[in-house]
Amino acid sequence: MKFKQFATILESLEKSSSRNEMTEILAGFLQKLEPDEIKPVMYMLTGRIAPRFIPLEFNFSTKLLLRAIEKASGKGILEIETLMAKKGDIGLVASEIKSQMPQKQEELSIGEVFQLLFELASLEGVGSQTAKIEVFERLFKGADPLSIKYVARMIVGKLRLGLNDKTILDSLSWAGFSDKSYRGQLDYAYGVRADIGDIAELVLQRKFKKLERIMVEPGTPVASKLVEREKSVEAVFERIPESIVQPKYDGLRLQIHYSRAGFDDIHQVHQNQAIGQKPPSLQFDLGKTESRKRDIVRIFSRNMEPLTDMFPDVVAEVEKKEDELPGSFVLDAEAIGTDPETGKYIPFQETIQRKRKYGIKEKSQSVPVKVYVFDILYLGKEDISQKPLLSRLDALKDLIKKNFSSSRILKLSESNELKDLKTLQKYFAKYLEDGLEGLIAKNPQSKYLPGTRNYDWIKLKANIDSKLIDTIDAVVLGYYHGRGARAKHGVGAFLVGVYNEKTEKFETIAKVGSGIKDEDWEGIMERIKGLEIEKIPENAEVKKELMPDVILRPEIVVVVEADEISKSKLHTAGQDKDGVGYSLRFPRLKEWDRADKDPEDVTKVSEVEKLLVN
Ligand code: ATP
Repeated sequence: MKFKQFATILESLEKSSSRNEMTEILAGFLQKLEPDEIKPVMYMLTGRIAPRFIPLEFNFSTKLLLRAIEKASGKGILEIETLMAKKGDIGLVASEIKSQMPQKQEELSIGEVFQLLFELASLEGVGSQTAKIEVFERLFKGADPLSIKYVARMIVGKLRLGLNDKTILDSLSWAGFSDKSYRGQLDYAYGVRADIGDIAELVLQRKFKKLERIMVEPGTPVASKLVEREKSVEAVFERIPESIVQPKYDGLRLQIHYSRAGFDDIHQVHQNQAIGQKPPSLQFDLGKTESRKRDIVRIFSRNMEPLTDMFPDVVAEVEKKEDELPGSFVLDAEAIGTDPETGKYIPFQETIQRKRKYGIKEKSQSVPVKVYVFDILYLGKEDISQKPLLSRLDALKDLIKKNFSSSRILKLSESNELKDLKTLQKYFAKYLEDGLEGLIAKNPQSKYLPGTRNYDWIKLKANIDSKLIDTIDAVVLGYYHGRGARAKHGVGAFLVGVYNEKTEKFETIAKVGSGIKDEDWEGIMERIKGLEIEKIPENAEVKKELMPDVILRPEIVVVVEADEISKSKLHTAGQDKDGVGYSLRFPRLKEWDRADKDPEDVTKVSEVEKLLVN
């Protein structure tokens, strides 16, 4: 199929503001794809050429793209830059310039565009900028004005179709089964194997049996199992009288995948696929696979993004044992920073500082981590995620004892089988004394159900001066200009929202201005740059009275602490027929930018009510 047909669909999706309509448009298109076009299309829909968990980026700045357009079109850079200043969108610029060129009949196919984009992303190192410009030239020459608009946006990471995983899964259900009834099944399958290309292939090629029996596959992230909350030791005990209790470490969730044989290299995968024949004139050497290091350890975050590069020490620890380890495994764990001098745990924020791209090596020395492994989903050649927790923990104990008993990094999480309330109380008190966040009680018979939040796992935290049992994760929807001390940054307070699963919208719950430290402002202002939008997006609900001075694309997730939940006519969170919604009393910002959470992962309206102690 020609890429132009895909571009027409992208345009319809961009123009549509109704989720149902988007689902319909996409489902109809997906049904028409050839088998070898499925994966390329699925990845390109997300603005990428690989699943989200593979760190393969274009690394192409807008500035470089302007130069590439200059070279490809022969127009003067001044003219192009003026157009950019006028349009403010690189896609529109590329498209307009292309429409001024003589049009060719021969247009690139989906496979060819994908191949060229893949080549572009694969170029790295000395001379790669020139080579990237040359690949773009070929895209520009072979694409029509509409196609180049989307290609250009994709390359600079600004495709932004307003399409989320949910809509994509709905479309797959429609494309494969003519209704939404398979959404539950698809959610599960996507949770077990978070590769949208894989799932789409199974559905669209009608391999339904395989879909039903989908297994964990080392190398591909599994949606993390989530935990419910309870307000007291008694309440936890009532829910799970016989439980396995583990400490609740306040760190960063890590899913550690290992395969002695090595994971399929994405470069090999794509080259082996018949995604259109490699054009004969392809001049750049993609064969870097030989020099590329064999990929045997992969680490993913809670929202299934790659974290491997952030934890070289953990990778090395596993690699060191390569010869003795079983064929493969998948572990669920929490990384927590420790102070090298005192050996004490340090807060989550400092642990996450490692995420900074630079200085990872130095940071891993100044903030050494310990990784507490609390579950195992795959061992040897077997998916054991559906075995009861008790037997998974036996397998885990074995693995760690045999291979990592002397490790200073990889540790087995403590697990205690408890049957009475008193002992549960004792452990809770002890964990708090040890500087931990609280406990997690787990049902010994429970299976690992990816991405689900239910009472199989319950967290209990100490809530010192709040009537709420937990903090709230919220998405930033905009800000107000401030007065007084904060005015120098131009921000007085942020408007934040939670997610309503019924209305499928972000709804406002608080205006939060306190809790921000002076030294954090620079990073905050940097992060919100470029997220400004003109009006409240379709997926958010804000009352006129609370309209922020600057509206932001719902992207940044923050953690908010509050004293209580009250009701307010100003807020839309879970509002009743009289327009009264939930609001937070005395909200303060506890953490800015939880990068390991996606906006849809914020606290749900249905959870808000349950947060009150009484
Ligand atoms: P959630 O993940 O529930 O949306 P959150 O990210 O704000 O919320 P918490 O409220 O801190 O996290 O509680 C759940 C998290 O606790 C898990 O995602 C995991 O990162 C962490 N955790 C720490 N210790 C354990 C443990 N023993 N078992 C499971 N999770 C643990």
